[in-house]
Amino acid sequence: MEDCIFCKIIKGKIPCFKVYEDDRVLSFADINPISQGHTLIIPKRHAENIWEVTAEEIAAIHTASKKIAHAMKEALKPDGIAFLQLNGRGVNQLVMHYHLHLIPRAAGGPEIPMTNWELKPGDMKVIQETAQKISAAVK
Ligand code: AMP
Ligand code: ZN
Repeated sequence: MEDCIFCKIIKGKIPCFKVYEDDRVLSFADINPISQGHTLIIPKRHAENIWEVTAEEIAAIHTASKKIAHAMKEALKPDGIAFLQLNGRGVNQLVMHYHLHLIPRAAGGPEIPMTNWELKPGDMKVIQETAQKISAAVK
């Protein structure tokens, strides 16, 4: 896609710090890292979000994520690695080309946002009804 920043990275028009590449995916360092080693994985075909990406592309991204997570474990020895993937402006997706974030947390390092929410029991009736509503729409 013409004015997509990640498509420009794939085409080599904008530089990146490449971590991994295969025929379907590209992985590179996030330049506004939440933590040291924050890395993105994207499909090479332009797809905006989870609704546009194919099941094969998701499989390729997650296969790559396993390789990269192993590499991060060896190279950085993190305490854990968070995976994050945003879909839509309502959840602050900023770059509209599907991407999976791999965010390692250093041992003793600061908490990764979104990984330490408070566990407050919800309304079981609402939880059940909502789960049923989603379940009924599964195709
Ligand atoms: P989001 O769409 O909110 O999931 O996040 C987009 C991510 O892309 C942010 O973490 C940005 O720091 C990152 N980003 C934007 N432009 C670049 C770039 N040219 N190279 C690497 N990362 C980028
Ligand atoms: Zn794109």
